[in-house]
Amino acid sequence: MLGLLTRPAHKNLFDPFILLDEFASADSADYIGGFPEHPHRGFETVTYMLEGAMLHRDHLGNEGHLRAGSVQWMTAAHGIIHSEMPEQKEGLLHGFQLWINLPAKEKMKPPHYQEFIATEIPQVALVNDGTIKIIAGDYYSGQNKVSGPVTGVATQPLFFDIELRQQQQLNIPVDAQYTALVYVYEGELYNGESRQILMAGQLGLLTDGDELCVLTRNKPVRFLLLAAMPLKEPVVQSGPFVMNSKEEIEQAFRDYRDGVLTL
Ligand code: FE
Repeated sequence: MLGLLTRPAHKNLFDPFILLDEFASADSADYIGGFPEHPHRGFETVTYMLEGAMLHRDHLGNEGHLRAGSVQWMTAAHGIIHSEMPEQKEGLLHGFQLWINLPAKEKMKPPHYQEFIATEIPQVALVNDGTIKIIAGDYYSGQNKVSGPVTGVATQPLFFDIELRQQQQLNIPVDAQYTALVYVYEGELYNGESRQILMAGQLGLLTDGDELCVLTRNKPVRFLLLAAMPLKEPVVQSGPFVMNSKEEIEQAFRDYRDGVLTL
């Protein structure tokens, strides 16, 4: 996995986002080991697949087959112990894992999942070509509101997968209070205002305003728009746990060791 976004411990610049990984490889040696059994507490993990297949299993006996175009939104909250393993021996595996924080009052609630296959994720065709897949949040297409299937998330996120052709412009309103990120995974994207370029593998942070304004030039682009309400709470992260204090992190490690991380 390629770590592309990490928040410096002393700053909460990307609040409530904690981490974004893009995994992309056609060489099975890179992914065959997968992620054997490990715990999480205090936040949500989102796995969005572009290509390939992963098998997810947890301590409750849940099993999920993640296929191309599907999303798994796991609210780990009080505790999950799970494994995420490739379900293929060769070929391209490409996708993302995003970690989103939970507010203090939801960190110790029971865990739950939302899983949607590709055909359950609405896709909006843009006027001048290009598409937007609405995974979470609302997108307004003229008078029509298109809502993503993922609902009930504390930070009320937008999670859009967007594809634009050459010479296209796109404006998307984003709540001014939100933290909004753009991650380009193919092609090139230009910031409509500063004309600054974002290349594949680069992340942009919307610094102010209430609208994302982007355009393409000679190359098409594929990118994620991720936006959510910041929590403005202390963040203490250690490995697979994200809590509000060092004591709560120590408790999580103790609970895991004592076999009571999960409810
Ligand atoms: Fe995990």
